[in-house]
Amino acid sequence: MAVITERPPFKLISIVIPVYNEEASLPALLTRTRAACDQTACAYEIVLVDDGSCDRSAEILNEAASQPDSPVISIILNRNYGQHAAVMAGFANARGDLIITLDADLQNPPEEIHRLVTAAAEGYDVVGTIRVDRQDSWLRKSASRVINKMVKQATGQEMNDYGCMFRAYQRPIVDAMLQCQERSTFIPVLANSFARKTIELPVQHAGREHGESKYNILKLINLMFDLVTSMTTAPLRLASFLGCLIAGFGFALAALILVLRVLLGAGWAVDGVFTLFALLFIFIGAQFIGLGLLGEYLGRIYTDVRARPNYFIKSIVRQDAQVSELGRRK
Ligand code: UDP
Ligand code: MG
Repeated sequence: MAVITERPPFKLISIVIPVYNEEASLPALLTRTRAACDQTACAYEIVLVDDGSCDRSAEILNEAASQPDSPVISIILNRNYGQHAAVMAGFANARGDLIITLDADLQNPPEEIHRLVTAAAEGYDVVGTIRVDRQDSWLRKSASRVINKMVKQATGQEMNDYGCMFRAYQRPIVDAMLQCQERSTFIPVLANSFARKTIELPVQHAGREHGESKYNILKLINLMFDLVTSMTTAPLRLASFLGCLIAGFGFALAALILVLRVLLGAGWAVDGVFTLFALLFIFIGAQFIGLGLLGEYLGRIYTDVRARPNYFIKSIVRQDAQVSELGRRK
């Protein structure tokens, strides 16, 4: 493995962190991330995006960004738009040639940043991570397993952990993502659709020390729909495929009923009324499945057509005098 000590492999590294009600984690996050970035021998900036927190997160970020020589850039969104929209806002304001995303809750140890930088310096477009010994509930782990398999099928990229946002992206990948106009984004999948070379590193995963996961079951389901519809329209085809299958089955059953009617007489056919009812229910069910899926896509098309911006930035605090020297090691 190449040892990168002489010349920094990147001119500037941007760490993008979405923050939603994380006031308790922020002080440790800031010190640990800065210490970890100092290890990389590259200049760095830490772009923190406050995603409409109701606690003191925004104030803490602005304070950190206002310090002289601070590598921190604080971006405050006017309300909660969701983790992925917040990261996109961070991307739009990050200037590094390598961009690393990280969660604010310290579940991914920032101390591993230098490993991602080293891997990216070896020429990988996207460096993903696999959470070793993942500290989440059984339900979330199993849901992730199913989703990871589906994404693998759709994008063809061999990755085992799409749920982990501790990732590094080369500048062109982020530029490509920023060009995407779609509203529902799932960043790791979007990034992989533009990547040629990817790698996954195993990293430690800690339990959440402060606060609770910001994802409830509804938000998770929504995220899953974002992921599936952003990646593929296969479910639409699946609906028609299922429809054909059920219709074929209906025809076969109708033929069978007709034959039995001829063989067994009209008396038997009266009993068959119930079979027809059953058939009717199958058809209605199939139509509803199809309609539901269509609605899912239609809803997304609707929001895209309205073309509302994904986020509005309320304020940005950055030390402009420090632009060229951001976080550079003395
Ligand atoms: N987050 C956010 N907006 C949201 C939900 C979450 O910016 O609407 C941030 C949150 O502050 C954290 C990261 O996204 O930095 C991951 O959230 P969380 O740790 O709750 O997710 P989990 O680890 O449970 O998947
Ligand atoms: Mg977390």
